[in-house]
Amino acid sequence: APAETPQVVIDAHGLPYLNSKLPVRKRVADLLSRMSLAERTGQMTQAERGAVGTGADITADDLGSLLSGGGSTPTPNTPAAWAKMIDSFQLRARATRFQIPLVYGVDAVHGHNNLVGATVMPHNIGIGATRDPALAQRTGAVTAAEVRATGIPWDFAPCLCVTRDERWGRSYESFGEDPALVESMETVVQGLQGARDGRDLKDDDKVLATAKHFVGDGGTAYGSSTTGTYTIDQGVTTVTRQQLEAIHLAPYRTAVDRGVGTVMPSYSSLDIVGDGRGPVKMHARADMINGVLKGKLGFDGFVISDWNGIDQIPGDYASDVRTSVNAGVDMVMAPYAYKDFHTALVAEVRAGRVSEKRIDDAVSRILTQKFKLGLFEKPYADTSGASKIGSAGHRAVARQAAAESQVLLKNSGGVLPLKKSQKVYVAGSNADDIGNQSGGWTVTWQGSSGDITPGTTILEAMRRNSAQLTYSKDASAPTAGHDVGVVVVGETPYAEGVGDVGNGNDLELSAADRAAVDKVCAAMKCAVLIVSGRPQLIGDRLGGIDALVASWLPGTEGDGVADVLYGRRAFTGRLPVTWPRSEAQLPINVGDPAYDPQFPYGWGLTTLTKVPEGGVATLTALGAAAGAAERAGADDRGRALVEKARLIVQQKAGPRMTAAVAAPFADAEHLLLTGRYGEAVRKLTQAYRAA
Ligand code: BGC
Repeated sequence: APAETPQVVIDAHGLPYLNSKLPVRKRVADLLSRMSLAERTGQMTQAERGAVGTGADITADDLGSLLSGGGSTPTPNTPAAWAKMIDSFQLRARATRFQIPLVYGVDAVHGHNNLVGATVMPHNIGIGATRDPALAQRTGAVTAAEVRATGIPWDFAPCLCVTRDERWGRSYESFGEDPALVESMETVVQGLQGARDGRDLKDDDKVLATAKHFVGDGGTAYGSSTTGTYTIDQGVTTVTRQQLEAIHLAPYRTAVDRGVGTVMPSYSSLDIVGDGRGPVKMHARADMINGVLKGKLGFDGFVISDWNGIDQIPGDYASDVRTSVNAGVDMVMAPYAYKDFHTALVAEVRAGRVSEKRIDDAVSRILTQKFKLGLFEKPYADTSGASKIGSAGHRAVARQAAAESQVLLKNSGGVLPLKKSQKVYVAGSNADDIGNQSGGWTVTWQGSSGDITPGTTILEAMRRNSAQLTYSKDASAPTAGHDVGVVVVGETPYAEGVGDVGNGNDLELSAADRAAVDKVCAAMKCAVLIVSGRPQLIGDRLGGIDALVASWLPGTEGDGVADVLYGRRAFTGRLPVTWPRSEAQLPINVGDPAYDPQFPYGWGLTTLTKVPEGGVATLTALGAAAGAAERAGADDRGRALVEKARLIVQQKAGPRMTAAVAAPFADAEHLLLTGRYGEAVRKLTQAYRAA
């Protein structure tokens, strides 16, 4: 930290707000009462660090916050450079009248992903596949520790989107299609923030979290377009009030219960059937932000807009500003337009179109989080945890997450796990590419292929396990003499929009990937791994593939993938989304009336050596026991009983899935997550009979 300012400032001016012994509420009230209008509106203004140069405007405009948008990194991109950069901006904030520290935010959506050398976790879709809330919490804790150690106290994560149509390019940021699954993974909020009341936020390994994007971002309708514009990202979510509550709002109720400190509205519009309003941009929806989020759900943190999100509200800029602030947006991410925003907001207040009361409410909410973060006492980076960035301990958590996220969809003839002694032929576009296995929001906003950050590729990890391994990216000459082929295919990185459509038709594998699969699987027994942010269409090709694995975007720790491939750990991951047969089926989700997928939501084979045996009689007994466990509130036992029933059903159903099996199987997964164990086993019994 810069030498001229002491690290701990208590009672420096003798003013009450600087006294860390007073309750936060009193400190906020004291500080607020002293601030001019411009000082208060400044707190509501967030600029992009790339827009402020060395930061003179932080002092001149009383800015409350800065962000690094995806890939807005210092040079060199090292922990020390991040800390130095943020301290230099903080020093500018120290030069303001009340020395109110900045709150600096980044998108650390799967580890401290902007930083080269950080531990990169699987993206949320893979975390959803783990069905392991305790692990999700640990991934959040590792992320928080790495982020805070570079001087950043705020993370724009987690995304609580409930993806309903995987043609949406941000589906990989979703824990899954079932709100109950998304809710179960919100333990990540505790990993990031610590205790629900925010008392851990001042610790050097915790950050403020952001639940985003409120609300319905995962429910937008797909519309292909001949003009090249797709409407699914930032589009319109049309739902009944009941669907809104049950599917998209439910995760926010949980997030508020978990004490999430900030919420970000969605770029999308919400169209509630029957309310007569038609689609309205979320940044303008007072009924949802003021009414539901802050009112009904009792959210007492602050609302941060999305990047230029207010600009999409119809009308001129002044109207965008007053509409969004009056709707309940407390801080506006106006990355390069921060001066315009600040000026417009002051003018709106002076004209009486935004009330002083609204401003004071917004500023109180922002200051409350700054006090909780301990920024007034410790404004500068505490880099004592920096040695843990990318450490073996942190990578072990990511490795476990990568392993648990792998979903075994098919395993004919027990091709997996592989044996060390086997001669393995490895091919495919994603076998040896850290960038591709990490996906979007990695080092740069969109992410990119290649060796972009330290880690272990799937191929490198496999080499450590195999006595004899041959690799050919394009599967040239897959000769006989190999025991098994492993073809790793999938997507190339993207962050927002509709994804890597350049690779083919949305969820289609590229021509090169299809060729590699066909070549290898024709020549030998084969396992196909799909490294992607969402399901890819396999269709009839499934018949020629012996083993199929959904690997999602596992991040930097390829060793986790090798752990399950070689049987050091059993496959335990389950589908967080439905795997469709064809694009024509989309959108397809658990609970749909005509549900006939290639693999249902919740599907996932195991390589546990002992799969339980049994038939209808066993399942009936399991159902009774599960019902009893449910009534006794014995969740662990209830879950174990359902798991046993699930394995029995999967054993019989095999990969030849019919609608009669898929629908009750998927329903059972939802019931399991909502604690209805008896009913879940009854659904599984129904699936068993149909299989
Ligand atoms: C995304 C947000 C993100 C913001 C800041 C936007 O484009 O929609 O999820 O937090 O950028 O980087």
